[in-house]
Amino acid sequence: MPHAAPAGQPLTLFNSLTRAAETFAPIDPAMVRLYSCGPTVYNFAHLGNLRAYVFTDTLRRVLNWKGYATNHVINITDVGHLTSDADEGDDKMELAAKAAARTIWEIAAFYTDAFKGDLDRLNVHPPTLWSVATDHIQDMIAFARDIEAAGATYRLPSGLYFDTATVPDYGRLAGTRPDEAIGRIDSVEGKRNPADFAIWRSSPAGSTRQMEWASPWGVGAPGWHLECSVMSLKYLGAQFDIHTGGIDHREIHHCNEIAQNQAFTGGGIGNGTGANIWMHNNFLIMRDKEGRGGKMSKSQGGFATLRSLVDRGVHPLAYRLLCLSSHYRSELEFSAETLLAARTRLRRLLLAIDKQGLRGDAGVDGLLDDAGYTRGASLAFQRERLEAGLPAPAAARLAAFDAALADDLNTPVALTVMDELLADKRLDAAHKLRALASMDLVLGLGLVGSRALAPADLRIRPADAALTEADVMARLDDRRAARAARDFAASDAIRDDLAAQGVEIMDGDPLGWEWKVAP
Ligand code: AMP
Ligand code: ZN
Repeated sequence: MPHAAPAGQPLTLFNSLTRAAETFAPIDPAMVRLYSCGPTVYNFAHLGNLRAYVFTDTLRRVLNWKGYATNHVINITDVGHLTSDADEGDDKMELAAKAAARTIWEIAAFYTDAFKGDLDRLNVHPPTLWSVATDHIQDMIAFARDIEAAGATYRLPSGLYFDTATVPDYGRLAGTRPDEAIGRIDSVEGKRNPADFAIWRSSPAGSTRQMEWASPWGVGAPGWHLECSVMSLKYLGAQFDIHTGGIDHREIHHCNEIAQNQAFTGGGIGNGTGANIWMHNNFLIMRDKEGRGGKMSKSQGGFATLRSLVDRGVHPLAYRLLCLSSHYRSELEFSAETLLAARTRLRRLLLAIDKQGLRGDAGVDGLLDDAGYTRGASLAFQRERLEAGLPAPAAARLAAFDAALADDLNTPVALTVMDELLADKRLDAAHKLRALASMDLVLGLGLVGSRALAPADLRIRPADAALTEADVMARLDDRRAARAARDFAASDAIRDDLAAQGVEIMDGDPLGWEWKVAP
């Protein structure tokens, strides 16, 4: 099939490897190859992890919307990721299984399903392929044998290690000198260079792990970095287009992937070393009581999950909009205020859409074909049908929207352009609806069509709830007044009354939530 030229402005993407925005030029214009580091499935994904996949989804939607078909692989890390990025500590999966008295396989299956459910609730499209690490152990062993034969590794009693001095330019992606980048990595005794890392971790004598395999280096498990090199090579080839991950992966994990690829292919950067473009999303951060920000992280406990938002009555797409309202390379602060502001913004959008009679239009359904998404360029196909014959003012808004996204996926600006479209009085409803539907192909906020959200959907309440949100807020005001007057009997009565109606008051909630829908 002949390949149509991509639509709109040329796409520029910030490449962490060169620290510069580059015009995107796919290796094979008919199929862009994309790899995203996936989750370690020993717990629920936290909202920070999910930011990484909203970013990846946006990237892929933009590529598709602009006319590129994509082959997208996300891995599932169900083995090998230790509690620290150094080669120390226990396997996160083994620890979680022990704590839950479950087998590691049960833990992995449970959290993999939970993760996919979270992505679905966030309108993140599934990748072309989910690639599971433990399905590729033999591929990893074969790869490790090759790089051992190429002289890139050495053996220690604890396993097989990668000698980072054997590849040119180690750590170039991190943008620091190797000794600076890895200063924080504790060394395993006998390592030749501090940055060296495990390719294979032998099981310690006398202990058994739930997940272990025979190998030329004894019974054990692969090092974490190995899986991404092996699976990206297997499914996307030695040189593919784009590799994504959170910014934490820029310093170690991705440097190690590149080093492994170099040892395997014998190539230099850009020639058999993985992706041409390495893209990293910045962190979702939370502030502590003193106002210090830190990245949200699973291993620190007390993290916020998508489920915890839903429990508090917040629709998942409010979180998607929060992610889109900041650029993926900026830190994003998560708090009750920022989330509720995103919810208010989404509600305003939906109200404006409702008021202008743009929602729930079955007419636009025929032009939207979600199910066809995995057929590659179908977002571009839908876009073409939606935008065909639009008058100049609508086309100009769409061009501005396209230009924002072409500028390294500038979603905050794209959202503003959508606001301007909605406010534009010169456009008639039918044209506005088509333009809006095209924008929503990229934003994925469920704004139009008969399956669109309604403003009332944003607060998730039991269908039979007697109280409105305003009622709850008024009762909370009464309770605050009662407490200020030290009338604790009255304050308790309000709490009990709300509880009887399915609303639980949350004094001292770390996220600053005041109430949630009782489970
Ligand atoms: P993990 O399950 O820890 O392997 O992480 C899955 C993805 O989430 C990786 O791409 C991480 O870089 C990313 N990630 C982890 N913490 C955060 C955070 N606080 N904000 C944004 N991305 C994150
Ligand atoms: Zn990875």
